[in-house]
Amino acid sequence: MSLQKFQMYINGEWTDSFSGQTFKSLDPSTTQAWAEFPDADESDVTRAVESALKAFESQEWRSLTATARGKLLRKLGDLIAENIETLAQLESTDNGKLIRETRSQVGYLPEFFYYTAGLADKLEGETLPLDKQDMMAYTIHEPVGVVAAIIPWNSPLYLTAIKLAPALAAGNTIVIKPSEHASATLLELAQLTEEAGFPKGVVNIITGYGAKAGAALTSHPLVKKIAFTGGTETARHVVRNSAENFARLSLELGGKSPQIIFGDADIDSAVNGAVAGIFAASGQSCVAGSRLLVHESIYDTFLSKLLNRAERIKIGHPRDDSSEMGPMATAQQLSVVESFVEKAKAEGARLRLGGNKPDIAEGWYFEPTVFECNSNADYLMQEEVFGPIAAVIPFKDESEALAIANDSQFGLAAGIWTRDLARAHRMAKNVQSGIIWVNTYRAVSAMASIGGFKNSGYGRESGIDSVLAFTEKKTVWLNL
Ligand code: NAD
Repeated sequence: MSLQKFQMYINGEWTDSFSGQTFKSLDPSTTQAWAEFPDADESDVTRAVESALKAFESQEWRSLTATARGKLLRKLGDLIAENIETLAQLESTDNGKLIRETRSQVGYLPEFFYYTAGLADKLEGETLPLDKQDMMAYTIHEPVGVVAAIIPWNSPLYLTAIKLAPALAAGNTIVIKPSEHASATLLELAQLTEEAGFPKGVVNIITGYGAKAGAALTSHPLVKKIAFTGGTETARHVVRNSAENFARLSLELGGKSPQIIFGDADIDSAVNGAVAGIFAASGQSCVAGSRLLVHESIYDTFLSKLLNRAERIKIGHPRDDSSEMGPMATAQQLSVVESFVEKAKAEGARLRLGGNKPDIAEGWYFEPTVFECNSNADYLMQEEVFGPIAAVIPFKDESEALAIANDSQFGLAAGIWTRDLARAHRMAKNVQSGIIWVNTYRAVSAMASIGGFKNSGYGRESGIDSVLAFTEKKTVWLNL
């Protein structure tokens, strides 16, 4: 495959980095370089941030009403709808995700843009019922200014959309840095923002490494809000960087999400939910249901059905429609997965399925893997793998299930499988996580918020409050 060369998008222009340096991105299904991107440094970051600030202060952007901004977002949604296949193919090449998964994820983006477009002109302020006769006060929501978005490699378009759409709906401008492992689709998206008619400099995309371009962007004094999705350790750097300028932050981080299967659950549905929860995207999903907590009364039945189903997963090329699991996105992620297998074995977890690279000539593939663990204190039960490893453990009763579910540094998502409605609500109330799925897993909607408790981050994306998260609230007092 010949190397495709991409440029960054700054101030409405396609550009290389000032230094002329580039880096290459590898196709996970071949491990060969397929694309080359500018390697942005601090001077490129400054150029992008200054262009975003200039656009933020420009009459062209400021004079647009919220309704007009909503129309631009709607147009962008239409353009994405016309380009689903191109975007889905590109994302699959870039990060190795199955084409059927990228098609479905990209296919939902227009709905997401339409929903958020509709919120643009609904940021109503309030008139305050003051405890003073001679005064009145009201509130206004104003954009924060230049927003920085930092994106991981696993779902670049979706994780960008949930930042870009609300940031623009609220009247901000934005600089986005995709992961060095998957930058291509965001540059394609940049092209669509231009076609949609967003003024120059409103959307800027820079490409580069986290420790260089990412660090420069998140510590830039002109950036007023950072919307970050990525790993918990990286987030600690971002929090430190933001502290210098008190940039507002939202953090969508990792997880070790439990799926809790009670004795009265529909076992076949729960097995399907467990398999989709951990093996979709080869486990490289922030909401991967990586801990399977199974009631002892159905433990053996559930486990044998799980193994039976997981063993039949068809591993194959990401652009083959019949593949059910593709490669890991990076060589590093593959070695992380391999090291988890070794650690799990060393601490006495029982390997029941997988644990190896499959017999495929090239590509960073790994088998669907299932371990039975001894205790929730096991390394495999506590640390995020971000790969296709399910850790299974039995529980005796509801209170033990709850204790195990909450015994985690993370709190992003949880699945609860039961036919007992009261129990479902009790668990939903008591499990410490930002998303609870009952008798389903991974459902998403533009109307539903995403975000974590504990070390899974703070702030919420998507949903009705998502646009407010990109505003400052101002209170205006009048002496009557
Ligand atoms: P990562 O933390 O390595 O990288 C994320 C982004 O941060 C990349 O763009 C990277 O270049 C950048 N970065 C790295 N160092 C930086 C620094 N010092 N300053 C600023 N930016 C820096 O994460 P990843 O490996 O790309 O993605 C996997 C992680 O993302 C997992 O932990 C996963 O759980 C998490 N994730 C969370 C969600 C969610 O919504 N909660 C969604 C997807 C992924």
